[in-house]
Amino acid sequence: MASKDPLKCLIIGSGPAGYTAAVYASRANLEPVLYTGHEPGGQLMITNDVENYPGYPDGIMGPQMMEDFRKQAERFGTDVRNEFISKVEFSAEGGVHKAWTEAGEELSAHTVVISTGASAKWLGLESETRLRDNGGGVSACAVCDGFFYRNQTVAIVGAGDTAAEEATYLAKLCKKVHMLVRRDVMRASKIMQDRVLKTENIEVHWDSSAEEVLGDEGVTGVRVVNNKTGAKSEIAVTGFFVAIGHKPNTDIFKGQLDMDETGYLITKADRTLTNIDGVFASGDAQDHVYRQAVTAAGTGCMAALDAERYLAAKGII
Ligand code: NDP
Repeated sequence: MASKDPLKCLIIGSGPAGYTAAVYASRANLEPVLYTGHEPGGQLMITNDVENYPGYPDGIMGPQMMEDFRKQAERFGTDVRNEFISKVEFSAEGGVHKAWTEAGEELSAHTVVISTGASAKWLGLESETRLRDNGGGVSACAVCDGFFYRNQTVAIVGAGDTAAEEATYLAKLCKKVHMLVRRDVMRASKIMQDRVLKTENIEVHWDSSAEEVLGDEGVTGVRVVNNKTGAKSEIAVTGFFVAIGHKPNTDIFKGQLDMDETGYLITKADRTLTNIDGVFASGDAQDHVYRQAVTAAGTGCMAALDAERYLAAKGII
């Protein structure tokens, strides 16, 4: 069933970008409707203490922070719906855009703000999931959580630029960093590799994969298997970081919006405009460089302002 009048602003996604877009859009009378997706709150829901978001001098739990974001958006009238948008049909001529919920409801909107975020990739080990979900010391974000492991020994898995950057970051805080690289080469750029190899308290374990994260309530170590020899060993660590890449949640936009080879949406330089008029992208769905809650919130704000200006220019508001 199609809704009668097109929405002025449809927001897809409920992380810091989506809720910030909602706060701005609702205060500008765009009467936004926000669809949360399957994981309301996004990546912050699996983060414990957030200590680097300005305005929270004592830090805040990720889920609480997202609850506060949601309340703030609702206070100004955002219609937040706990549903997933599974299909979109954007109008290349700048007309009305269409979207469908998973339940099959058809929506139309003059502007769409995309804030569908990205998901960290995980190894898929049972012990990794358990010690991540109970806050036991498994993390996919060194910048967020490294601080909790000051002067401790940690492990990090991955060999790309992110892993290299995060290993170097952790090395500044931690006593020792064990870096597990599954092949005998690193994918990271030469300069990043050099930085890793020159850092005294990073030990690179080549051809090595994590077989199990050890510990019941909290991480106590990692069992490592050598992929060439099959030899197994255990390393004592209190933190376990996974840095094997992120996947932007942009599959439903394929073929309609410009994206890079990984799926990150491409926006005009310093703006949130996509290749389709009236469709704006914000947060981790379009940012593979900074990926912070505060930068996502910033681009969410930009997207709402861009949507407002677009609607005004078209005489819709
Ligand atoms: P990448 O996809 O580049 O690298 C992922 C790494 O994780 C690879 O080394 C890969 O190993 C490894 N990996 C994947 N799956 C597993 C697994 N199951 N077990 C063990 N290891 C695994 O992702 P990044 O997040 O590092 O980078 C994404 C993009 O962002 C890149 O283009 C990168 O250059 C860019 N970037 C740039 C930065 C900068 O310039 N400052 C900083 C961070 C990112 P293998 O090599 O064996 O496939």
